[in-house]
Amino acid sequence: MGRVLLLGGTSEANALAGALAEAGWPAVYSYAGRVAAPRARPLPVRVGGFGGVEGLGAYLRAEDIAAVVDATHPFAARISANARAACAAEGVPLIAFERPAWRAGPGDRWMHVADPAAAAAALPPEPTTVFLAIGKQGLAPFAARLGYRYLLRLVDPPESPPLAGAAVVIARGPFTVAGDLALMRAHRVGLVVAKNSGGAGAEAKLIAARDLGLPVIMIDRPASPDRRVAGTVAEVMRWLAHEACLGV
Ligand code: NAP
Repeated sequence: MGRVLLLGGTSEANALAGALAEAGWPAVYSYAGRVAAPRARPLPVRVGGFGGVEGLGAYLRAEDIAAVVDATHPFAARISANARAACAAEGVPLIAFERPAWRAGPGDRWMHVADPAAAAAALPPEPTTVFLAIGKQGLAPFAARLGYRYLLRLVDPPESPPLAGAAVVIARGPFTVAGDLALMRAHRVGLVVAKNSGGAGAEAKLIAARDLGLPVIMIDRPASPDRRVAGTVAEVMRWLAHEACLGV
């Protein structure tokens, strides 16, 4: 029986890893390697890029991969496009695990933008403290927006300052509303910049922003490739059993 390749780096992928291990299906969990010490998984783990579409295609062949589950982050557009192309070329079935995007509710003050550059351009003219809750990628456009205080929250301590003069907090989610309220009060945050990742683990900052009456510049998701999509672990497991013919 071939193996399942689980493209991970999200809490959904972690839940799937548990379900795959429990089902006893041969599977491998793939990390990009952005985080220094990824959490232990109940599956064999591989780390690092494959080398584009061709590299991933070669991996699928060499490792006898019977199905791919793309449970990467909604903003990880390149690996998702690569997975779509490599699976199509190799005839390997693919399913994506997508979490719903966050939606603004009553009391939210969101402005939608397409990317980090548009978010930087949308900062208000008056100086304020900006909670840049977008990870370590996409910070470059903010370096040119002087006159603001920036607060960054990163998983690993950066080797060099990621943004000159920025306050850096090292923390790994899931985050709580109480914790994010305390953080934002302590740093006198006046505005939040977020990516519309969806999911529960990173939503606390948005609830905290609503409670504090703060505006949010929301970076919308990039377009995802045309592919089969599931929204729950059970759906992915059913698809693997029936359509990718595992578990038989
Ligand atoms: P990306 O821009 O789509 O990917 C860039 C390159 O990294 C890919 O072309 C691929 O290299 C490699 N890669 C990405 N995910 C991989 C995986 N799971 N296994 C092996 N190689 C992978 O992705 P990204 O935005 O840099 O994100 C990297 C990882 O961090 C993803 O796994 C994602 O789930 C996780 N993550 C991303 C974000 C975010 O905001 N982007 C947030 C939280 C977690 P090759 O072309 O050489 O194969």
